[in-house]
Order: sequence, then structure tokens, then C-alpha cells
Amino acid sequence: MTAPLLIVNAEVDGISGIDVRIEQGRVAAVGPDLPRERADLLDAKGGALIPGLTDHHLHLHAMAADAASTRCGPPAVRSADDLRAALAAATGDAAGWVRGVGYSESVAGDLDAVALDRICADRPVRIQHRSGAMWMLNSAAVAATGLASGDHPGVERDGAGIPTGRVWRADDWLRTRLPTAKPPSLTAIGARLAGFGITSVTDATPDLLPESQQAIVAATMSGALPQRVHLLGAPLTGPDVASPRLTVGPYKIVIADSGLPELPALADTIAAAHAVGRPVAVHCVSREALLILLVALDDVGTIPGDRIEHGALVPRETLTRIRALGLRIVTQPGFLCDRGDDYLRDVEPVDLPDLYRCRSLVDSGIPLALSSDAPYGPLDPWRVMAAAVDRRARTGAVVGAGERLTAAEALDGYLAPATDPGGAPRRVAVGAAADLVLLHGPLADVLATPSADAVRRTWTHGDALGR
Ligand SMILES: [Zn+2]
Repeated sequence: MTAPLLIVNAEVDGISGIDVRIEQGRVAAVGPDLPRERADLLDAKGGALIPGLTDHHLHLHAMAADAASTRCGPPAVRSADDLRAALAAATGDAAGWVRGVGYSESVAGDLDAVALDRICADRPVRIQHRSGAMWMLNSAAVAATGLASGDHPGVERDGAGIPTGRVWRADDWLRTRLPTAKPPSLTAIGARLAGFGITSVTDATPDLLPESQQAIVAATMSGALPQRVHLLGAPLTGPDVASPRLTVGPYKIVIADSGLPELPALADTIAAAHAVGRPVAVHCVSREALLILLVALDDVGTIPGDRIEHGALVPRETLTRIRALGLRIVTQPGFLCDRGDDYLRDVEPVDLPDLYRCRSLVDSGIPLALSSDAPYGPLDPWRVMAAAVDRRARTGAVVGAGERLTAAEALDGYLAPATDPGGAPRRVAVGAAADLVLLHGPLADVLATPSADAVRRTWTHGDALGR
């Protein structure tokens, strides 16, 4: 057990000159001029001490795999020639495979095995679409995975039944056919999260395989991943994995962006989760997906905690219904800074006002939480907050000026507990877990230009992490 820590001269809840005592993983005292005996001292120098941030939607193992992958989309790669050079330069894994990520059609159009072979054919290559929904394999990879005999419905086939090299929403299945099936280490991800002040994450990966779930549980227990974890992909039946550092959340359901589900099947899945007391967290990117979800929920009813993931397109006329159903929305304005220019070019003009709504959700009384969807969206919460405030794409163009949040509201989107996204922000208060972030300056200064550079130190369970 480490010695008690006394952080002196901090700003807490907007009041400067506050001391905070941390003992046994909890906030033990908050106030001016706390006694300094028998404690390690840390001078906050007037910096704000705030609760640790929760990223309400990300994908831990995908983040770790992404870190070891070749960039195949903008801004690093913008053309077929760029892609050829990037794949040629890739080291490849121990088995000689190259894993690419972030592909966008703007690089070299729709890729199948034949098209990818023209870019790289000499070793097995798999490239993930930036949506995370599809993998594109070259012929060497198609052969190595035995795709022709694959029985997964996500294996796309041509008229003659030959695999095209495109595999939809079949990550777990595909992984079983790859040479390296072990989940990657989360140690580096934990350190990266701590550097941003993130002390708690919600892993939104659907239908976690037992070995993936076990790896996450083990990483939280060993401290390799110091953050608390809330799991949406835990199966509806299975061993109870909850611990002080790991909780099981709503049940993740994906309504694919292409090919909508049958309404009865969706309603049955929701009802099955509700029957065992699990709310649902439903991936809704398109207008159609949201509308079908609302019909299903009208049918089977909602329970507290049901949530919409992404809400990329929320038609105005659905706001009242979403509010009446008691749904919360976990969204990612960070996509606006990463992909805003694409949206302005590709999204139907009539849909643009509905894109990644924030302000109108708050005004409608719909609980709103922010998140990254990393590795598919930018992880840095301070960048996501800035995007929620200015809604600027890379070129500076603004997407939906009327949907802007204030920086304080955006921060609140990260301060609610993982178990209550969009709920009341946590506070630095006596008895609270010592999941804390010390900033370099007062909160108002930091929020004037949100940046991860403002993070001075992060604690989870009272233990200092990173910076
Ligand atoms: Zn996601």
C-alpha cells in the first residue's frame, strides 16, 4: 500500500487553493489547508484536479492491433501509388502477413482480391475498411485463410461462388483462420489512455470471444491495463466476470450499415437481453438503422440503460420518441474532424443537419455521452471535445454549426460514470474512487483550447499513471 498522497493548491469545482488527500485508492479529504503530516506532497500549482475521463465507446484489442498496422487511408495514404508504397514498406508479422487499416474508397476505389493483387501480391495482405465493417484480402491471403471453404455469411462471393476477397463483419471468424490468433497485449494502450487522462473505458466490441474477454479480464487484474473496463460484448450467458475493475454493461447489438436485420429478429435479440436484465447498446449509423431500432423498441419496450451507439444520423422528428423511450446516445464528434470533409462531399444534403447531433440532443433532454470509437475514430478525448465545440473538418469547413456544445458540456460527456453515460458528471469528493486527472492550469484556461498537453498526471485507484 502506497503512502497517502496530498495534492496541494489545486483547483477543484472551480475553487482554487484546495488540497485533496488520497488514501487507499479513495479521496479521503477535500478542503483548504489540510494537514500535511504523513503524506507525500504534490503541488498542483493552481492546476485543476478533475475526475478521470471515461471513454464510453472504444475497442481495446482493435486499438492494440491497429497500433501494429500499416495506415492504408488518408491522410497518410491518398492514392493507389501511396498504398503500393505503404504495403511494400510494411514489416509484416512473424508469419509474413501485412495488416492494413483505415482504408477509404478515395484511395483506390472498391478493393477486392484482384484489385489488391495489382497493388501487392507477393505476401498475404488484409486491409480493414475504415468503418471497421469489412476486410479486403489479396489472393495470397484468400488462399492462406481457405476462404473458398469458409462457411461464414460475411464471406462475399461472386456469381460463380468464388470469394471476392471481401469479408464483412466477421472479425472473430477471420481471426480463427489467421496464423496469429492470440489477443494482443494491452499494456501500451493502457499507457496511452492514461496520457490522455482516461481512467475508465467501455469496450464496445460485440460478441467478445471467450479468449478476448479473458485477456481483458486478465489485463485489468494484472494492472497491465490500469483503467476500469465496462464490457458491452460479454455474452448473455456465461461466467460472471465482474470485479471492482471490470463491469458488464448493456448488451451490444450491431445493426449493420448495409443490409438491415429483420425486425422480428432484432426485437427478439433485444427482448432476450432484457430478459436477463441487460439493457442493450445498439450500433446505429444510418437513418434506416435508427428507425428500425425505434420500431423494435416500441414493440418490446425499453429498460433503463438502453443506449444508441454512434447515432451518426438522427432525424429531427425522432428526437421526441428517443426521449420518450428513455434512450441515451453515445456519440463521436471526433469523426467530424477526421472525416468532416468527406461527409460534406458524400452525405445527402438533406441528411447533413442530422449528422452527429449533440446540441439538439441535449436540448431535447436526451442523455448524451462522448467517446472515440477508437481505433476507428480519434482517441484523444481533448481533440474530440474540441471537435464537439468547433465541429470543424480538416479543411476548416464547419459541419452543423447549430449542434455545437460548449467545452464544459463536452467535458461532461466524458465525466459521467461508464455505468451511466450521459448521466451526472462525477466529482472530486470524499469517498469517491481516486480516479483523477491533474491539469497544468485552471479548468477554464484548459477548456478555452482543449488539448491533451494540459494533462499533467493521471491516477486510477489512487495509483499514478504515465505523465
Ligand atoms: Zn465501435
